[in-house]
Amino acid sequence: MRSTLTPDSAPPGADRLARLQGALVGAELDALLVTALPNIRYLSGFSGSNALLLVPAVGEATLWTDFRYATQVKTEVRGGVRAVIEAHSLWSALLATLREPGAGARRIGFETEHLSHRDAHRFLDEARDAASEWRPTTHLVEALREVKDAEELARIRTAVAIAETALERTLPTIRVGQTELEVAGRLEFELRRAGSEGFPFECIVAAGDRTALPHARPTSRAIGAGEFLLIDFGAVHAGYCSDLTRTVVMGPPSDRQRAIHDLVREALGSASAGVRAGMRGWDADAIARDYIARGGYGEAFGHSLGHGIGLEVHEAPRLSSTADAPLPVGAVVTIEPGIYLEGWGGVRIEDDVVLHPDGPELLSRFPRELVSL
Ligand code: ZN
Ligand code: ZN
Repeated sequence: MRSTLTPDSAPPGADRLARLQGALVGAELDALLVTALPNIRYLSGFSGSNALLLVPAVGEATLWTDFRYATQVKTEVRGGVRAVIEAHSLWSALLATLREPGAGARRIGFETEHLSHRDAHRFLDEARDAASEWRPTTHLVEALREVKDAEELARIRTAVAIAETALERTLPTIRVGQTELEVAGRLEFELRRAGSEGFPFECIVAAGDRTALPHARPTSRAIGAGEFLLIDFGAVHAGYCSDLTRTVVMGPPSDRQRAIHDLVREALGSASAGVRAGMRGWDADAIARDYIARGGYGEAFGHSLGHGIGLEVHEAPRLSSTADAPLPVGAVVTIEPGIYLEGWGGVRIEDDVVLHPDGPELLSRFPRELVSL
């Protein structure tokens, strides 16, 4: 295994709150109200479906949740976070805490991308007095989440391994005449059997001309002889996602099928070997995009090259023609070039890569060569 990204002696996740608190000081905030559940899980360890987290720039954070999670918080919530089980309204409890004597006159950030209008109304209008200033923020916790620590990387490695096992067990069961839905069902079964907690997104299984739809939903369409079959799926382990795609062919491939698959596979190879921490997202994207364009199919690769994976299957950083942000050391990203020809079909191949200081490491090892079933 490669060098880890945090000292081995540190307990997993211990420094996340401290890193956020450093960012709050830098942003001149006295506290951050965290409402995005993946951000709450990242910072506190709590994986339930209903919570608010208040992180002060200095001192202990407070997590409010409800009775359903009274036992769960005891095993999940990390040090540095005080968990409160609230019988009525989490928002009322939060605002009551903020109104306690000595707690006022503070600048409190909120996550403007992760708040309903109704909830924002609760403090912007009804509870103006609970802070001296309510300040909209974006990307404070997400920026920390871009850089995976050793525990997170280990979890993603396992999620990748589960996905690869599931695909390995599913491919030999696929026959001409089965429907896309049947294949998706088998894949989901094998994901569960291999240990996946769930599905980071609905499995994409598309056959024939439907492989030209980058985000096809599986249907009752039967898979025909000689057709492409595109499978895009992932596993979840301890909250962390993997995301893989392979395109196979039902029988011997035609020359054109092989040529297009080769082009996508080579574009993936050049990007997954050439991507580096420090590179801007658009420069990473350009490695594969330029390769496909030189092959004559630039117009047929219409989506971005990749995205971060972690607690969410689509998170920062982005590898796209509009992403100017540099890719940080420790990011785990997908590389997923594709070519889509309406009415004919398409190919996408997707792997997961971690960006070490000395270069990329491929996390997914499933063969990229065109498989004939
Ligand atoms: Zn995918
Ligand atoms: Zn993806």
